[in-house]
Amino acid sequence: MAITLPELPYKKDILEPHISGRTLAFHYGKHHNAYVTNVNKLLEGTDLADETLENIIKKTANRSDQTGIFNNAAQVWNHAFYWQSMKPGGGGAPSGAAAKKIISDLGSYDMFAQKFKDAALTQFGSGWAWLLMKNGTLEVMKTSNADTPIARGLKPLLTVDVWEHAYYLDYQNRRGDYIDSFVQNLINWDFVNFNLLSAT
Ligand code: MN
Repeated sequence: MAITLPELPYKKDILEPHISGRTLAFHYGKHHNAYVTNVNKLLEGTDLADETLENIIKKTANRSDQTGIFNNAAQVWNHAFYWQSMKPGGGGAPSGAAAKKIISDLGSYDMFAQKFKDAALTQFGSGWAWLLMKNGTLEVMKTSNADTPIARGLKPLLTVDVWEHAYYLDYQNRRGDYIDSFVQNLINWDFVNFNLLSAT
């Protein structure tokens, strides 16, 4: 069972002007695609080859002899989750279950936004910022490089990619502007609400 590149859930230019079609063409078509190609190459002939992507990630996490498989598998998963974390006309304050849960666990939408932006901005070098569920409570977390909360059994609800390839064509070194734009204009709260349903 080979790992496949999932369809992008929208047209490449639909997140403009916040993320350009050019960025998505490279980010999805080159970067995400390369992780898929690499992980399939590395899995060939191993006893992990028939496992699901999630199981491959869990089984290779913290294994110093499996970092190649872990890094590429986790990046395949993280990117698929990132595409779904965005939608055109998204961002701003949520509605539904996410709105209530954010207020009860994180204080307010503004406190969530501040925490999430801080995590994304202070991730030194490449990585990801997350909203996730841990023991029934919402938390904001950052991970470096390919690392992913699912390797630790946590339940991600939302992510933003802060590797430079995610924003450099559009924002150059201004990661903060990219993150602000993600929070204000792109967060797919429908996806967060959907993930919340299966998180409790
Ligand atoms: Mn990326």
